[in-house]
Order: sequence, then structure tokens, then C-alpha cells
Amino acid sequence: MSQPNIRVAIIGGGLAGATLANALIKVSHVDLDLFESAPEFTERGAAIGLTSNAQRALDQILPSMKQSLDKAGAVSMNSSRIVLGSGPDSGSLIFDLAGAGDPGIVVHRASLLREILAPLPEEILHTSKELSEIRTQGEELEIRFQDGSSKYFDAIIGADGIFSKVRNYVVGNSGEHQASPAGFWDCRHLIPLEKARSVIGDQFFELDRQYGWIGDNAFIMHDVLDNRTMVQVVVSAIEKDPPKDRKRPLTKELLTETFSNWLDGPIAKGVIDLLLEPGDLKAYSQWEQKSTPNYAKGHVCIVGDAAHATTPWQGSGAGLAIEDAVILGHLLSHIKAKDDLTAAFKAYDAVRRPRGQRVIDSSRETGRILCGQNREIGLDPDKLRELVPGRWGFIMSLDIHQHKQDALEAMQAILRTDVE
Ligand SMILES: Cc1cc2nc3c(=O)[nH]c(=O)nc-3n(C[C@H](O)[C@H](O)[C@H](O)COP(=O)(O)OP(=O)(O)OC[C@H]3O[C@@H](n4cnc5c(N)ncnc54)[C@H](O)[C@@H]3O)c2cc1C
Repeated sequence: MSQPNIRVAIIGGGLAGATLANALIKVSHVDLDLFESAPEFTERGAAIGLTSNAQRALDQILPSMKQSLDKAGAVSMNSSRIVLGSGPDSGSLIFDLAGAGDPGIVVHRASLLREILAPLPEEILHTSKELSEIRTQGEELEIRFQDGSSKYFDAIIGADGIFSKVRNYVVGNSGEHQASPAGFWDCRHLIPLEKARSVIGDQFFELDRQYGWIGDNAFIMHDVLDNRTMVQVVVSAIEKDPPKDRKRPLTKELLTETFSNWLDGPIAKGVIDLLLEPGDLKAYSQWEQKSTPNYAKGHVCIVGDAAHATTPWQGSGAGLAIEDAVILGHLLSHIKAKDDLTAAFKAYDAVRRPRGQRVIDSSRETGRILCGQNREIGLDPDKLRELVPGRWGFIMSLDIHQHKQDALEAMQAILRTDVE
């Protein structure tokens, strides 16, 4: 007798939920619904970088990834140039990371989300649907929504971001597994390319090149996006006293104190002027999930920031979410009935959690190095040259085909053990 389709709910329509939905609509024995709390699908913030591993993973999911990225206005980063922004060697080139053959891209967040949502059938997308509670009802899972309605599913996948309710169901409410400040704040601002050229300097915009400025207490980055019309300027710094509401006004005092040792260098003054001009910018605390004991409980699991919110220092949060989607799509396409969901989610947990944790820990330490806080390295150009570039190796070298195979073997082993 043929099995009924497996009813899967995705909670959250950010990059993780939307990408996962693309992976799961291809699975013929899955009936999918995606619930987003906001009245429409939106991405806040400016640009997002996708490293080569993230692009390879996305290519497994989107039928025409290249066209989708082109439509989203993605700009290929031909190189990243890392320079010292403060200290006695200020202005020294640390290294150029050439993107030859394998470049990262930078893309406007909202445009990327729009293109990822585009292939999805409208009838599976539900907005203004905020999950308030998950209840187990016999073999079924009941989702209760804030609007008083409820629906039943066989599986729930939480893609509901860093303050995820689904995460609370999976790992419990204990404080140690909740998101917490990572020790940095940052501020992002988007300005027209011509303005950036005139204030920061023409010489920094001759190529589509991302610049990162390492210095005492802080890091500055700028890159070109939106089909070479805009520049994103990001300032990140060490945070000692995280505000409770995770944000503070970006004042002249905050910037001059943060960059007190940078002011003789080539970059800080121009960037400070650019950031003070709008008058209302905020600096946001970076939060992360320091530890997560499990990504799955029974027929419920978590993906994206709900599972592994990380600091942005290695530009890998969205990349991890896309990899999650590839693995879950692969596993669910290889199960036949809802009874196998627990094994699929356990296998997902087994292959994805070590990688998520490694990125979180590596990213935090990378932030400390780029803000000159690593005692051994400091702002020594030779040590930075030797130790920084290799930190991306384990992220970019992921063989997504092998990773899928590992996940499948893990699931088959779990299924065999369950039968024995
Ligand atoms: C400053 C910054 C810079 C970054 N830069 C990069 C980068 O360059 N490269 C990179 O790969 N990553 C980067 N990241 C990380 C990346 O942005 C995130 O990892 C990624 O966007 C997470 O997507 P998500 O869908 O998991 O979460 P979110 O984008 O938070 O989406 C969650 C969705 O769930 C919805 N939701 C929440 N609660 C509920 C509920 N109860 N019911 C229904 N819906 C709900 C929300 O409305 C939202 O739409 C950066 C992150 C930050 C903070």
C-alpha cells in the first residue's frame, strides 16, 4: 500500500526557510507549507556575502542559480584586500585573497530572498502566521499560531531565526542554550559608489574588490554591490558592555573612542564622516549561539540561525543555512514514510552540528584577531599574513556531495539500528 505524503511545516521565511522550501518542494512525497510571521517576506539589512561553498550548495537547490544571482544583482568579488588600518604599520598590505576561479559574491539581501522565493508555488507560502506553540497530539504535531488558528503536521522545521521558538522546543529554555552577546558590535551603511569614492578615495574602488582594514579594537570593511552602484561600509568593534536591547546610537563619541588609535591612518577619518552623516545610525551587538546540544527532537528540527547563529566575521551564517537545506532535502528525499523522520533528523544533527559549532567558534576568534585582540598575533603584519587566510579553509573546502553521502549513510545506519 502506498504511504500518505509526509506533511512538513517550515517556520520562518528568511533565507534559511526559503532555501529549504526550494529543496523540499522537489521531494514528491512531501506536502510542504511555509509560515512566516511578518505580513510579507522581507530581509532587513544591506548585503550578504556568499562564499564559494555556499554558492555550490545553492547550485544544488536552485534550478538556475546563476540567472537567479544575476537577477539579484550579485557582484563577484574578484579579490579581498586586507590592509592594516592602525598602528605603526598602518597602510601595509597584509594580503590579497584572489578569487581566481572560485570567487565569493556579494548580493543585496532583499533581492536574494526575492529570487529564492520566486520558484515557490504561492499556495505553500503563508504570511502573518506566527507560531506560538508546538504541541504533540498522538503521532501528530500541532502548530498553534498567534492568530488563534492551528494546523497539524508530521514534521516541523524551525527556520525562525536567532530567537527561535522552535529552538526552545528542541533544546529547552535553559539560558546556556540561548543566544548571547559575542563581544562585538557593528554598524552597516549603504552609500552611492560615487560618494564613497570621493570620501574614502578613488584608489580603493578601481576593482570590484572587498577591502578589510584590521586595527586596534575594530575592523572596517567596504565592498561594492548592486551592480556596481552602491558601496556597503561596515564598521565592527570590540564590545565590553552589551546594551540590553542590543543596540546603541552611533555617536561621534563612540566612533572617536573606538578609532582613537586609527586617526593618523588612511581610512578611519573618511569612514567616520560617512557614518555620521545620516545622523541616526545605530551600532548593533553581535549575538551568537554558543552551544547547542541537539538540532533535532523527534520530528522537529532547526536550521539556519535557529540552529547555529554565528557572528558575521567569516561571512558564513547564510552559507550554513543553505548547506542545511541541501542535507535535509537529500535526507527527506530518501525516506519513504513519516516513521523515518526521526532517523533523518538525527542524521541531519550528526553531520551538521559539528560544522555549525566549528564555524561559530572560529568566527568569534577571527573577529578577535581582526580587531587586533589576539595576544600572540596583535597587529604584526607577518603573523597576520601567516595566520589569517587559512581560517576560511575548512569552510570553503566542504565537499557538498561527500557531505550528502555522509548524511545518507548516517541515516541508513540509524534506520538499521532501529530495526535490529
Ligand atoms: C550583520 C550580519 C552580517 C552577516 N553577513 C553574512 C554574510 O556576509 N554571509 C553569510 O553567509 N551570512 C551572513 N550573516 C548571517 C546571515 O544573515 C544569517 O545567517 C541568515 O540570514 C539567517 O537566515 P535565517 O533564515 O536562519 O534567519 P532570519 O533571517 O532571522 O529569518 C527568520 C525568519 O523567521 C521569521 N520568524 C521568526 N519567528 C517566527 C515565528 N514564531 N513564526 C513564524 N515566523 C517566524 C522571521 O520573521 C524571519 O523572516 C550575517 C549576519 C549578520 C547579523
